[in-house]
Amino acid sequence: MKRLSVSTMCCKAALIDMDGVLYDSMPHHAEAWYRTIAPLGIECSREEFFMLEGSTRTRTINLLFNRAYGHDAAEELSLQLYAEKVRQFRALGEVLPMQGAGRVIDVLLLHNVRTILVTGSSQGTLLERLDDDYPGAFNEPFRITGEDVTHGKPSPEPYLMGLKRAKVSAHEAIVIENAPLGVEAGVAAGVFTVAVNTGPIPPQALYESGADIVFDSMTHFAEHITELIDIINTTTL
Ligand code: MG
Repeated sequence: MKRLSVSTMCCKAALIDMDGVLYDSMPHHAEAWYRTIAPLGIECSREEFFMLEGSTRTRTINLLFNRAYGHDAAEELSLQLYAEKVRQFRALGEVLPMQGAGRVIDVLLLHNVRTILVTGSSQGTLLERLDDDYPGAFNEPFRITGEDVTHGKPSPEPYLMGLKRAKVSAHEAIVIENAPLGVEAGVAAGVFTVAVNTGPIPPQALYESGADIVFDSMTHFAEHITELIDIINTTTL
């Protein structure tokens, strides 16, 4: 008799975004972008920078320039604006680890789930702090940053690289994301994608991006993560 091919989902690796997941850094990013772009006379809101999270510098700036002027920003101006955004971000002061994130990481490590950082950011200020704030969780080579990728989110590229580093397939991992473009990237990589709504985005936007489940905070996720790992480990595809 021909055997049916059945595979089981399991949670061997967690591919984890940084801004808005491990650090409560998105209010600073959104404010820094707003303080950079609004003085140019370009109409924008802090909320839309939460929606654009994960997008590259070029894509973010060109989207705003096209809306206001109907053309892209010159590369030199784009670089100057980004330098100003980074300066504004630093001036806003220290960013704190996201409440509940430490508990999520502890539970994952307790269940022998390999934790991997997958961020579009290259911002040294936070990357350098990871070992102090989340000891043992994101050792090299288990870090994908803006330096490693060509396309960035919403392309599946960063999450596909994360799977490769962890040596697992898509149905053996989960993605933990907070932004619509990041959720799209996780879903496009074929990975079960958990969204945590740590900013002002309506939860519907995260479901519309394809999130498999949405929690309203990392603390809320921490309360349910053990249960979720158990469900995933017993799910047959
Ligand atoms: Mg994020």
